[in-house]
Amino acid sequence: MDHLGRLRRLRKTLAQQRLDSLLITHLPNIRYLCGFTGSTGVLLVAENQAVLFTDGRYTAQARAEVKGSRVVIACKPALVAAAEWLTRHKRTFPGKRPRKIGIEGEHLAVAGRTRIAAVLGSDFRLKEAPPIVEQLRMVKDAEEIERIRAAVLLGASLFDVALKTMRPGVREAEAAAEMEYAARRAGAERMSFDTIIASGERSALPHGHASEARIPNQGFVVCDFGVILAGYCSDMTRTVHVGRPSLGARELYEAVREAQRAAVDAVRPGVAVGDIDRAARKLLQKRGLGRFFTHSTGHGVGLEIHEAPRVARGQSELLRPGMVITIEPGAYVPDLGGVRIEDMVVVSGSGCEVLTPTGKELVEL
Ligand code: ZN
Ligand code: ZN
Repeated sequence: MDHLGRLRRLRKTLAQQRLDSLLITHLPNIRYLCGFTGSTGVLLVAENQAVLFTDGRYTAQARAEVKGSRVVIACKPALVAAAEWLTRHKRTFPGKRPRKIGIEGEHLAVAGRTRIAAVLGSDFRLKEAPPIVEQLRMVKDAEEIERIRAAVLLGASLFDVALKTMRPGVREAEAAAEMEYAARRAGAERMSFDTIIASGERSALPHGHASEARIPNQGFVVCDFGVILAGYCSDMTRTVHVGRPSLGARELYEAVREAQRAAVDAVRPGVAVGDIDRAARKLLQKRGLGRFFTHSTGHGVGLEIHEAPRVARGQSELLRPGMVITIEPGAYVPDLGGVRIEDMVVVSGSGCEVLTPTGKELVEL
């Protein structure tokens, strides 16, 4: 992974934001910038150096993983160690005092902020930075896209496991367990979120986790699942029908499928993510289903299952080549059930490539 290139881009943004350095506490951001995958650490990126602070449990791991940053093994909490390091090295910071240290407001607890402010004193000022690293992470490089592609393929293979397992009388949790077992056997680190198997009336719950409920003789089953492979997440949803679908059920399925296709067709560089959401919503509204589409159309995926950009109403972020997003409209109709169809796509130079290989014909079990 191109950690040095990422640090270079981050430093450019820091200069634009008039920050002397950035204190990074969000672990996926730390991993992105220096490769460290441990569960405790703080990364300080200044103009001329980058230092990872972690503790003795991670000595060997940090040495093996970290690229482009120095490693400091601290006996104190990493955050305090980073603040003390700053006070010891304050003379190496060019420019006027107080030096501005950016913090990740979405990820640093108030208590942590108070603790470092006490150590830093008046030579430094803490400033809540915009989500700079998250913005860098939105556009994936070729190596990341290859990892995502592999995660998507492994994830998609679990749908075949689901199809073999699901039948009337089987508990939702049992189908999820078979999928998760197959995922680990195939090399996944873990699932990227709790597997959703929502059958019958429960299919109308957009986030119905696999429960003890038994799959009924008739109705939709929403299956939403993903894996983490080599650090990168996959995410897909397919909805199947147990028994013969009624005309209404078939129409509902086709409407969601059309909305999903319309949104995928709208994906290309330069288009605002809000317009992708609108493409899906417009189609469902035309079928009288607009009010049953109760969530946004999609989200970015990468080191985290939900990351920028949000593909939602009114969002102005413009798509760029290399962004990886989900397209997952759904409609949840009481008494009829819910349908959601979700693919992952990567924005290309002129449009997009659908990464999820699985067909979208309505499967009847
Ligand atoms: Zn999903
Ligand atoms: Zn999703």
